[in-house]
Amino acid sequence: MSASTPTKHLASCIFCKIIAGEIPSFTLLSNDKVHAFMDIGPIAKNHALVIPKYHAPRFTDTPDEYAAEILPAAKKVAKAIGCDEYNILQNNGRNAHQVVDHVHFHIIPKESDSDDSGLGIGWPTQGLSMDQIKEEYEKVKSRM
Ligand code: AMP
Ligand code: ZN
Repeated sequence: MSASTPTKHLASCIFCKIIAGEIPSFTLLSNDKVHAFMDIGPIAKNHALVIPKYHAPRFTDTPDEYAAEILPAAKKVAKAIGCDEYNILQNNGRNAHQVVDHVHFHIIPKESDSDDSGLGIGWPTQGLSMDQIKEEYEKVKSRM
C-alpha cells in the first residue's frame, strides 16, 4: 500500500481557510480527507458543498485517496438533507462556472419544477453522428 498523500494547503484559498478553521463554516461532516458544509450563496434551500482537504484547482488534480472520500460524504450529506430530488455538480474552469479554485462538489436540492430554485440545466444535444462519436472515442481511448 502506498504512503498517503499529505494534505496540501494554499494560504490565499477561501476553502483552505475553511478547512484550517481560519474562517467559519456550517460544518456537516469533517474527517481527515474531506469537509462538508453549507453553501453561503445557496441556489436552493440546503445547498451544501463537499471539498477534499487538499488544495487542487481541478478535479483531475485531486489525489485518488481524497477523491475516493468525496462520494460517500456527498451521499451522507444528501441523505441528511433528506431531499428526494437533487443534483450533484462539480465545476472545472471559468467557462464551466467555477469561481472558487479549490475542488468542490455541490449538492443542490431540486424542490420542484415550478419555482426557480435549484439548478437549471441546458442540455444542448449536438446531433453528432456515430462516426463522429467513434472518431472522438478512438482518441480518448488511446489516452486511457
Ligand atoms: P463554483 O461556482 O462551483 O466555484 O461555486 C462556488 C460556491 O462556493 C458558490 O456556490 C458560493 O456560494 C460558495 N462559497 C463561496 N465562499 C463560501 C464560503 N465562505 N462558505 C460557503 N460557501 C461559499
Ligand atoms: Zn484550497
